[in-house]
Amino acid sequence: MKAYQKVAELAAELAVIQSAGAVLGWDQETYLPARAVEHRARQLAWLGTRGHALATSARFEKALEAAEAQVADLDERQQANVKQWRWRMERARKLPAKLVAEESEVTSRAKAAWAEARRGSDFSQFAPHLERVLDLARRKADRWGWQSEPYDALLEEYERGARTAQVAALFERLRPELAEIGQAAVERSRQRTMKRLPGSFPIEQQQILNREVAESLGFDFAAGRIDTTTHPFCTTLGPADVRLTTRYNEADFLSSLFGVLHETGHGLYEQGLVAAEFGLPSGEAVSLGIHESQSRLWENHVGRSEAFWARWFPRAAELFPRLRKVKLEDFMGLVHRSEFSFIRVEADEATYDLHILLRFGLERKMVAGELAVADVPEAWNAEFEALFGMRPPDAAHGCLQDIHWSMGGIGYFATYTLGNLNAAQLYAAALRRKTVARAVEQADYAPLLGWLQKNVHQAGGVYDPNDLMQRATGSATNAKWHLAHLRRRYVGA
Ligand code: ZN
Repeated sequence: MKAYQKVAELAAELAVIQSAGAVLGWDQETYLPARAVEHRARQLAWLGTRGHALATSARFEKALEAAEAQVADLDERQQANVKQWRWRMERARKLPAKLVAEESEVTSRAKAAWAEARRGSDFSQFAPHLERVLDLARRKADRWGWQSEPYDALLEEYERGARTAQVAALFERLRPELAEIGQAAVERSRQRTMKRLPGSFPIEQQQILNREVAESLGFDFAAGRIDTTTHPFCTTLGPADVRLTTRYNEADFLSSLFGVLHETGHGLYEQGLVAAEFGLPSGEAVSLGIHESQSRLWENHVGRSEAFWARWFPRAAELFPRLRKVKLEDFMGLVHRSEFSFIRVEADEATYDLHILLRFGLERKMVAGELAVADVPEAWNAEFEALFGMRPPDAAHGCLQDIHWSMGGIGYFATYTLGNLNAAQLYAAALRRKTVARAVEQADYAPLLGWLQKNVHQAGGVYDPNDLMQRATGSATNAKWHLAHLRRRYVGA
């Protein structure tokens, strides 16, 4: 037990370093003046180096070995932490410092080149950088080790225990049904008369509504806040400090509200973790696919439901008097509006996953060496046409739209759709509890949040995502609930 305490103390020290970095990072994204960027980069790099040195230090290793020798005396959560620390240490050690430095150099150049290339819609400017990023990704995968294919090692960085072949099988099942649902949803939206909201929506009023909604879902403003950025995000600065951001569009209050609902979902997860275990794996979110399940659950399953708007539409009409002439039924048509778009981040609930299927398939082939970088734009466009029935007009609306590859984030995209599948599956499981279902009908979400805290949040990183899903819902991640939900909402069957 003493040996375990020693590692836990070192992990807590590491968490202090990392959360200090998170404060600086949050400030950089929100309020940092332009001329302060250079010094901020130095501060962050210094903290990053300190953190890496501690995480891979002989001190940490010795303490961990001692804890491992006494692992039988530990409880389940402590044992899970020991296992995770070992996994992380091995993984960090397998990447030599030279490779880490090379990666940060390659990706910082790739990011700049990508932004340029996207601006001019010129893939050839980005191609040599993508080549280098892929080469690095393959080398990393080889060092980390893999069994079936190198992509496994990359995917695992974001989704513990996930295997490429399993994800591919899930996505295969989704593909034909999603294409059909998307088509039907778009068709249905075209027939609706109301295309957008009337009038404009002052930002101050939007902020009042967003705050009331987030608070009513259970977000604790004594341990968090909402600020404004161009790209919404959620970040945790400490055990009682969760920061959300959103952006405002005066012509459409739903844009900031759904942003807040999404980030509130991430924030509720972070606030639901066991605070006393901050900095330990058992007090951390387990994976991106589970994190995204929480944001999607609150944004889509709760925030786009009839019951939610039966409660909140009258309040919105108080704040925005022009809504008083709008019928709730027409308004719901807008909430469920669906349209094929070239750009993933603008995609709606019914068509979003098609964008992910495309990226996952191409990435997997690129990493396996089955798709050459020079052929990416054409492969993208052909696949896009097969899925959506239309062809991107240029690379900026095609393979250059996302920042992920330039950042070296290969293996990341699948977690968005895993998040959607998990969201539907968890929501269905929660509703099997009568008390949860009855409250949700009245737009009372306290029992739902309680269920999620008990079954998802408090588990932290103790179980792999698929085991967590098994325990919470009775089966590992499965496509059927998501498909049933989309059909119910967008096809009416
Ligand atoms: Zn998210």
